[in-house]
Amino acid sequence: MNLAIMGSPGSGKGTQAFRLSAQLGIVHISTGEILREETRKNSALGIQAKKCLNAGQLVPDDVVIEIVHSRLNQLDCADGFLLDGFPRTLPQAKMLDAIAPRPKQADCFLDRAIFLQVSEKECVRRLANRRTCPKCGLTYNSETHPSTQKGRCDACGSRLILREDDKAKTVKERFKVYNALTQPLIAYYKQSQRLIRIDGSYKPDIVFKNLINLL
Ligand code: AMP
Repeated sequence: MNLAIMGSPGSGKGTQAFRLSAQLGIVHISTGEILREETRKNSALGIQAKKCLNAGQLVPDDVVIEIVHSRLNQLDCADGFLLDGFPRTLPQAKMLDAIAPRPKQADCFLDRAIFLQVSEKECVRRLANRRTCPKCGLTYNSETHPSTQKGRCDACGSRLILREDDKAKTVKERFKVYNALTQPLIAYYKQSQRLIRIDGSYKPDIVFKNLINLL
């Protein structure tokens, strides 16, 4: 199955994508994580992306489209994939729909678009409590999912940080961008009957159970 999961910042799409890809045995592709990895490596792409990430802006379409296009061409995507945080704009959604589906597959290359819906107030609260490992990218929540050793990553022991783009001012900007550019994709996928809307305000286990039922 070829899937995409979208939602506002803090809606829990990363958490659900991680579980869903494991459950379905398909590749998890997070554009946010690919871009953060590039910034950690300090590559030319990472240096360009960092400015956009830290300002709460999207990385230009042509850059992200190129990344996703070449990633989807890799062999491990042949049996299905889950895109996490892509598409975020209409040109990105159209790029996916321009890829021809394989023989015996559905009419469209992308089978379903999942939208996690959570109120802005709840997302802001979640992001303020989110702590991230700068080394391996794992995330924690100081209220609902703290690390075992306070302030340290369970996997690698690095000191956890509040991501630059999870700071209140940037979160505000990310919401503006989400409402203007990503929210309209709900209508795009509804029209082609590929939309799955899910209430993401419950605990992760419940959201996941509901998601599996709907799929
Ligand atoms: P995420 O981890 O999905 O919340 O993404 C973090 C940041 O990476 C976003 O705020 C954007 O700056 C950038 N980003 C991730 N995915 C995309 C995309 N599909 N298009 C443009 N920018 C993206």
